[in-house]
Amino acid sequence: MSILVTGGAGFIGSHLCRALLAKGEEVTVIDDLSTGSYDNLADLEGNQAFRLIVEDVNNQALVDDCVRQSSAVYHLASAVGVRLIIEQPVRTIHSIVGGTESVLKACARYRRPFLLTSSSEVYGKGSKVPFAEDDDTVMGATSTRRWSYACAKALDEFLALAHWVETRLPVVIVRLFNTVGPRQTGQYGMVLPNFVKQALNNEPIMVYGDGMQTRCFAHVQDVVEALLALMNCPQARGQVINVGNNQEVSIYELALRIKEQCGSSSEIKKIPYEQAYGEGFDDMRRRVPDLSKVHRLIGYKAKRDLQQIISDVIAEMKAAHK
Ligand code: UDP
Repeated sequence: MSILVTGGAGFIGSHLCRALLAKGEEVTVIDDLSTGSYDNLADLEGNQAFRLIVEDVNNQALVDDCVRQSSAVYHLASAVGVRLIIEQPVRTIHSIVGGTESVLKACARYRRPFLLTSSSEVYGKGSKVPFAEDDDTVMGATSTRRWSYACAKALDEFLALAHWVETRLPVVIVRLFNTVGPRQTGQYGMVLPNFVKQALNNEPIMVYGDGMQTRCFAHVQDVVEALLALMNCPQARGQVINVGNNQEVSIYELALRIKEQCGSSSEIKKIPYEQAYGEGFDDMRRRVPDLSKVHRLIGYKAKRDLQQIISDVIAEMKAAHK
């Protein structure tokens, strides 16, 4: 039986597929290549243990068929990126809520273990540092489009937990904090690939707002190792678990570090949020994960620091543009 990865052509999904194949698993991917990309998996075509199905996870009949033939399901298919969420809110909500419902329905039918990649966005604009899994979520107004993503992901979490409560379906919910690394595209607004690209081209590095907002960036390889371990951890079932890195950095400091590591002559430019995202945008000042639960469950500790992350992204971008 193979392992099903929805959204396997995406940034995190494509790293997860490789890790599963390296462990000797067979892997089936369902991905509609909307925010994912064929290029992320191109080198796996021809691998007997790998199968790519280009389709939307809202196709219930197909999902049913694939789940029946799988021993476990990693559900990563989702709209991603703050920019996309703001520009295409209908698509975002439909893909997140509808897709998860369809995959969970099939997992419930065939009793397959299900891992959901949720997001630290679910904490909303709470100001607690760090965020622990049982903390309250603080959402903005529904007229501020950004929060549709957080609410949709929160609904996914509720649905997965409901299956656990009602029928003990083995579900694991992972709240990913900012995950970065090779193959992440800047196309949907993510800060790190955009800054590296700007720095390598000696173009201005565009910092939104005052740059004093902070984030914690985790290497995709650390995150993938955690996903694999959590799927196989019986104590993780029915649980919501933060995964990320807790090394905090301001966005301005990030720009400086990327500029330096690239040996770039870019100027660092601050632009107002309204100019970047349009009117009525909300950002969070700090976002730091409490990682004690994931450490307790699987002994997780992020192994790769920001310097390594930046140098891996630089190396991959340089290689891709050769
Ligand atoms: N950001 C920025 N320049 C960019 C893209 C993003 O300054 O080109 C900022 C953004 O406003 C936010 C932070 O960097 O404060 C992280 O943004 P990202 O979209 O990567 O992730 P998220 O907001 O989901 O944490």
